[in-house]
Amino acid sequence: MNPNYCYQVPVVVGAGVSGATVAMLKPEVVVYDKGRMPGGRLSSKLRNAPSSFDFGATMFSDLMKVRLLGKETNYSISEIWKSYSVNVAFKPIYDNTHFYPENGMANLVSSMLGNVKPIQSHTLKNLKLTDEKTWNLNFWISPDKKIKTITAKSIILTLPIPQILEIFHSSEKNQNLKRWFDFLKNYNDYRKTLVSYFYWDEWKPNWKKLSLDPNLPIPVTTTLNRGEDWEYQSWESLKYPKDFHNGSALLVQFGAIFSETYFEDWMDEKKNPSLKAKEILMEGLKNIFDAPEPDLIWQHRWKYAQAQIPLLGREGSLNLDTEEFEEWKKLCKETGITILGDWLFGAKIERIVGGISFLSHNNLLH
Ligand SMILES: Cc1cc2nc3c(=O)[nH]c(=O)nc-3n(C[C@H](O)[C@H](O)[C@H](O)COP(=O)(O)OP(=O)(O)OC[C@H]3O[C@@H](n4cnc5c(N)ncnc54)[C@H](O)[C@@H]3O)c2cc1C
Repeated sequence: MNPNYCYQVPVVVGAGVSGATVAMLKPEVVVYDKGRMPGGRLSSKLRNAPSSFDFGATMFSDLMKVRLLGKETNYSISEIWKSYSVNVAFKPIYDNTHFYPENGMANLVSSMLGNVKPIQSHTLKNLKLTDEKTWNLNFWISPDKKIKTITAKSIILTLPIPQILEIFHSSEKNQNLKRWFDFLKNYNDYRKTLVSYFYWDEWKPNWKKLSLDPNLPIPVTTTLNRGEDWEYQSWESLKYPKDFHNGSALLVQFGAIFSETYFEDWMDEKKNPSLKAKEILMEGLKNIFDAPEPDLIWQHRWKYAQAQIPLLGREGSLNLDTEEFEEWKKLCKETGITILGDWLFGAKIERIVGGISFLSHNNLLH
């Protein structure tokens, strides 16, 4: 098939926070994404939803560390944003080290993308090496129901590993893809997360009874009960109060075991809860918050919510002093494909933004 476009600049696939960080650092890139909107796992609002709410990541820390050649260096994410003229207003949440963007998580991604407008509704289906150094990328364009082919010498993939492996699997056999395939499968472990959003037009809980207080210097709007079924509860109406007068809205992220157990029959295609899920939700709302039935319930399933065994570690500094990282560098250089994401840095916004910035400044991003 003849290509529709031949790019001389790197082609980024995925407009989540990884793709947006690359675009912030290298605004010359072209970004493709399969969704209708950018953001990926940083998603904020439904079309027609009565208010903003973050149904993927909800907070970030400003600080991260990198360890290279035995030396540890601290970085501030807000300073990185400032140096690229990315203006993101954020407020503290939960404690004095965590923050959320005042205009929602998706807005954070749009701000980082700046003038780079991702080409949306394009799903990468497969890759083909046409000569020693040039890749053909075949995209499925969902509104047009058509295939589009582009060529590039440098590709940056930012999708979760299972989606990358699927693309490799559908591609013509090739030694470069085989090398990546063998490398990536060591990190292919993601947790699932079920999410529910509840909206009440005319009901608010007793904030005091829930030990929440939106008026403190660090407003307490969320509760984290690690490992429990209702693991993370965030009163989005306290985070985004402009949309609320008499009502309230709650976002719940369910624990790993709960999510795994109920994942398959959680919702119908309109994102309404299944009968069983609704029963569980109503019981929880009554027991935990003494809440009446909400006016709106919306469900979401994150199949690849967070990478569990990232190459550079889950917590602490990003450790670049490892053989695995050397191998990652070699693969990027020799194949023309760079692969980024939470499987590499860890499933934290600050690790991804700080990590990609560090790689770029040290000429490790091809
Ligand atoms: C429920 C939940 C809660 C979380 N909470 C936090 C938190 O509080 N703090 C925190 O720091 N992190 C949190 N995380 C983790 C954080 O959201 C992720 O680590 C981060 O968003 C990953 O970004 P990414 O750009 O690497 O991947 P993604 O956001 O997954 O981006 C990948 C993009 O690729 C696109 N794509 C996929 N397949 C294709 C294809 N074939 N062709 C074209 N495009 C494609 C997708 O549409 C998507 O936009 C949470 C994640 C979840 C799911």
